[in-house]
Amino acid sequence: MLGNEIVSDVLIVGGGPAGSIAAAHLVQKGYSVSIVEKVPFPRFVIGESLLPRCNELLELNNMLDKVKEHGFMLKEGACFERGDDKEVYHFYENIGQAHGTSFQVKREDFDKLLLDQAVGFGAKLFEKTEITAFDPETTTAKAKDEEGNEYTFKAKFALDASGYGRVFPRLLGLDEPSELEIRSAVFTRIKNDKRPADATNGYIYIYVHGDNEAWIWTIPFSDGITSIGVVCTEAFFQKHGMSNEEFMDHIIATTPGAKERFENAEKILPVGKIDGYSANVKSMYGKNYCMAGNATEFLDPVFSSGVTLALESGYRAAQMIDRTLKNESVDWQGEYVDYMMKGINVFREFVKAWYDGRLQKVFFAPQKLEHIKRSISSVLGGYVWEDKNIFVRSPRAALDTMITQIGDGK
Ligand SMILES: Cc1cc2nc3c(=O)[nH]c(=O)nc-3n(C[C@H](O)[C@H](O)[C@H](O)COP(=O)(O)OP(=O)(O)OC[C@H]3O[C@@H](n4cnc5c(N)ncnc54)[C@H](O)[C@@H]3O)c2cc1C
Repeated sequence: MLGNEIVSDVLIVGGGPAGSIAAAHLVQKGYSVSIVEKVPFPRFVIGESLLPRCNELLELNNMLDKVKEHGFMLKEGACFERGDDKEVYHFYENIGQAHGTSFQVKREDFDKLLLDQAVGFGAKLFEKTEITAFDPETTTAKAKDEEGNEYTFKAKFALDASGYGRVFPRLLGLDEPSELEIRSAVFTRIKNDKRPADATNGYIYIYVHGDNEAWIWTIPFSDGITSIGVVCTEAFFQKHGMSNEEFMDHIIATTPGAKERFENAEKILPVGKIDGYSANVKSMYGKNYCMAGNATEFLDPVFSSGVTLALESGYRAAQMIDRTLKNESVDWQGEYVDYMMKGINVFREFVKAWYDGRLQKVFFAPQKLEHIKRSISSVLGGYVWEDKNIFVRSPRAALDTMITQIGDGK
């Protein structure tokens, strides 16, 4: 370090899951890594329900043991409820994947645990420091800390994992709107919800409101606190003319299943709201830089895919960076972008089919063949690169075939 100039092999912007797994991978490979993180950890972030594929990715990077030891709520599946209809997916009923469980996590604890591990492996963390400029020609970034001190970070390669900060897309003009309809989420944490007395106690519950105009997430933590959120279009929220809290109370009170579960619940946080969270980028990489996690594309919370895709892309990017720095030939488009898009597009088809009602026809169909159920369960577990799964190979066609077979049922 020369004055306020920091030189490392790799600069990582953001210490969320994408940044931490990439840093952990690269330092274990012997590279010097600087992580620049704007806010002090632990910090609150929404997105608390993980998928089994996360466990696999953490295991591949020697990060799973500490997560297991922490005592997070074991998550073994997902329940979808619509009135009297109920569909339960057990992640261990999949199509042969080793990891059939995951966790429900307070992200302030989970993200800190991952970041601490990356630092423990040898990454250098610059906390409370914000990246303000980036020159892709020289792989040099400018940053400022809380006291106003300025820094220059020089690296051979830079990874933007700044999540909703979307640092490189903003600074390099790569932002692109999402093709998905703009939605909002109203959320809080509560205590004293009536949790299921059966084995689905730790599962995420998704309650469909009305005629699919909104849905409610219910994510139970191991300390008795539960995360709850209502997702709908902004127009649907506005139509009610209510405050965030009034809206949440109203939706819960008029949604069977959720009404009973939250009858005696007590909010422990003010009800927050996030608008228009879906986002996209024109390009996920350039010469000596790339992006991972939410800094690229974020779809929708309904299948809890965000952290899985953040870990997958952070890990994948780190592997590509390793090979790039070894001067191996690397096909960033094919091996990184196309690979990531394949999995993202599986979730995208599921998200679209959820909101236009097709997927609910499938979920709530009275009978399904066991292998179909296992194939869907595998997608919901985050295994969206498994070509042996028909819902991965051609998700739209597989869903359409199912719907034709089901006919005009509910
Ligand atoms: C309503 C809603 C519900 C969701 N529910 C789920 C869910 O149940 N399960 C799930 O898996 N996902 C969920 N998600 C998505 C999930 O929150 C994200 O996909 C995930 O946090 C992405 O991780 P990341 O590492 O890319 O970014 P982040 O976790 O956002 O981390 C990025 C980090 O970069 C830092 N940063 C930003 N700008 C700068 C800067 N200029 N300089 C330095 N550092 C910077 C930030 O402080 C932050 O710590 C949900 C999202 C929404 C909107």
